[in-house]
Amino acid sequence: MENAFLDHISATLSEIKSAGLYKTERQIVSAQGGRIDVQHQGKRHTRVVNLCANNYLGLADHPRLIGAAKESFDTHGFGMASVRFICGTQDQHRVLEQRLAGFLAKDDAILFAACFDANGGLFEPLLTAEDAIISDALNHASIIDGIRLCKARRYRYANSNMTDLEAQLVDARNGGARFIMIATDGVFSMDGHLAKLPEITALAQKYQAMVMVDDCHATGFMGPGGRGTPAHFDVADGVDILTGTLGKALGGSIGGYIAGPQTVIDLLRQRARPYLFSNSLPPAIVAAGLEAIDLVENSDDLRARLFENTVFWRAGLERLGFDLLPGEHPIVPVMLGEATLAQDMASQLFEEGVFVAGFFFPVVPKGAARIRTQMNAALTRDDLEFSLAAFEKAGKSVGAIK
Ligand SMILES: *Cc1c(COP(=O)(O)O)cnc(C)c1O
Repeated sequence: MENAFLDHISATLSEIKSAGLYKTERQIVSAQGGRIDVQHQGKRHTRVVNLCANNYLGLADHPRLIGAAKESFDTHGFGMASVRFICGTQDQHRVLEQRLAGFLAKDDAILFAACFDANGGLFEPLLTAEDAIISDALNHASIIDGIRLCKARRYRYANSNMTDLEAQLVDARNGGARFIMIATDGVFSMDGHLAKLPEITALAQKYQAMVMVDDCHATGFMGPGGRGTPAHFDVADGVDILTGTLGKALGGSIGGYIAGPQTVIDLLRQRARPYLFSNSLPPAIVAAGLEAIDLVENSDDLRARLFENTVFWRAGLERLGFDLLPGEHPIVPVMLGEATLAQDMASQLFEEGVFVAGFFFPVVPKGAARIRTQMNAALTRDDLEFSLAAFEKAGKSVGAIK
């Protein structure tokens, strides 16, 4: 490869490093869970409390999911070696799609390799240059990319700013848009706050727009029965299309989906490019996904523990004097300001036996660096008390609290 090119790449890497934005990965040598074993810089850290997984219901190492996956190896094999429409659809792919649709009260659902692909493939088959998409400024990267791949006119509103959303709806209508779709995350994961779905669905109705919600950080635990943010706000009928993941609360492995009206799902099966041109989900993932839905439909106890943990954790951090963003979601961001402070605090916490990650620019605005803590149902009261003690010690040491 040309030296000039590799030099250019090295220079970019150096820029990332000198800005303090270079990310390194600590290796987990156990299963994902409330406590994990971590190998880092030649040292093994055992039974570290994990406060940064999207493992909301603690299903990532659940014996029932593991059992279902193991059993499926014998009944359905290992891989599909095909996209869905050629020879990659097993009975259980359709069962999972229908279970997801039933759980979310939609006509049907379609599986993708990940929600990134679901969002990437959603817009282009449904909307054309005659149409408009209005997108929240803080939407997930995969929604942004999906919109880029679609010819519809693009409008953007400031995060959760309903005045701005209405202005964009008026603009799109005045611009002669045939169909308008509003696209939003159900939960904005950097802050843990929920989209204003009651207002969004009301505005959609006023301007005859459709609503698409990406509920990755909500499906399985937010709202009655864990049916997500539309159910939480009791506006499920006003949300036309839902996207979501099997990679967070629903077992934490991999896989995404879109749920919505039958005709929409039928057309996506014909036209969505990540569906047509990428491999089918492996049988074990599908079998475990079905088990996850089963557990979620019967897991009020797991949801109860998740939210008990959330209340306990938030109150504990507040008592210690940390600056938190308000909210009810299991994402509890501890605001620190400078990127270096967030990084120092994260590495000290790791030495104390608590696994967290600092978030800083460009993932969050400059000066708004934070440690994003996340609760889950696998964490015990002991784990949380241990973590609060570590936060107190590290917080005092870096000067984040007195
Ligand atoms: C995690 C996430 C995704 C990506 O999901 P994958 O299934 O991991 O690709 C998409 N959108 C949002 C809002 C997410 O939080």
